Amino acid sequence: MLLLPSGLVAPSQRTIAPFALHRPGSVAEAVTAGALPGAVYAQGCSDLFAQFREGLRCESLVALDRVDGLTEVAARDGALLIGSGVAHHDGAHHAQVRAALPSFAAAWGRIANHRIRQRATIGGNLMARRTRYEMSVMLQALGARLLFHTPEGPLELDAAALWDRPEPHGALLTSVVVPDTGGVWFGYERSMRPLATAAVAVRGDEVTLTVGSEYTRPHTVRLALGEDPARAAAALPDTVGDAAASAEYRRHLAGVLLRRLLDARTDELKEAM
Ligand SMILES: Cc1cc2nc3c(=O)[nH]c(=O)nc-3n(C[C@H](O)[C@H](O)[C@H](O)COP(=O)(O)OP(=O)(O)OC[C@H]3O[C@@H](n4cnc5c(N)ncnc54)[C@H](O)[C@@H]3O)c2cc1C
Repeated sequence: MLLLPSGLVAPSQRTIAPFALHRPGSVAEAVTAGALPGAVYAQGCSDLFAQFREGLRCESLVALDRVDGLTEVAARDGALLIGSGVAHHDGAHHAQVRAALPSFAAAWGRIANHRIRQRATIGGNLMARRTRYEMSVMLQALGARLLFHTPEGPLELDAAALWDRPEPHGALLTSVVVPDTGGVWFGYERSMRPLATAAVAVRGDEVTLTVGSEYTRPHTVRLALGEDPARAAAALPDTVGDAAASAEYRRHLAGVLLRRLLDARTDELKEAM
């Protein structure tokens, strides 16, 4: 074991205590198993390995790979529904995702590396709740909703609510819903990662900017199309800053990235004319 300021960290998986394995076939069975004390859901396990090394207590692992419906992708009433078990590679290359939100699909295809993208899922990326992971930044800007099945029944949350941990133990994320895909322009900038990433969604005259970083939860501001990006980014709260970059510097970066993305949108519109 290593002693770090954050506590004891096991450098290998050999120190993991034995646990029971559940392999449910339906959402209902998964939630029943997931509600047990010490139960942990598992999808691609790419983050769980790190969690085990960080000292995760797990009495039973609920593997979700056989659960019906979690890998579904569907377009419904202008919204795009993505199952929580859709792997990064599959989602980024899915015909319906590419047709509905081409730049989101392209951004999704750039996260992590090829090996991780084959196994790791959108649901695991969100539910790991690590500020350095990018899905919540993109989905927050897109106004996505998160659909859960919990031991108490269905639950629907705004993507931003994830960081408040409002759902009960045993809540299973089943899908992510992006509304009104027909009326949205989306852009994503990760060139300044890990200091700052920026996702922008434009719907009509309203621009939503969500700024992420390795170190703090994503923050969102809304502005009108045509408003000065630097002024809009200045409205980001002080909590956007931390020891790695002051709030003032992150606001500056956010303004630069926002301007870049809005310029890219203008160029695309000109090309399309
Ligand atoms: C080398 C490497 C590079 C990476 N690079 C990037 C990157 O550039 N950008 C980026 O955004 N991410 C990156 N990641 C993170 C990666 O995207 C996540 O590890 C991955 O998406 C997690 O998905 P998973 O299916 O493996 O989740 P798992 O590891 O199986 O689970 C992760 C967490 O989510 C919980 N969970 C899983 N599914 C559900 C569910 N349906 N309901 C409720 N809880 C659930 C689990 O209990 C666990 O706490 C990287 C990871 C690695 C290992």
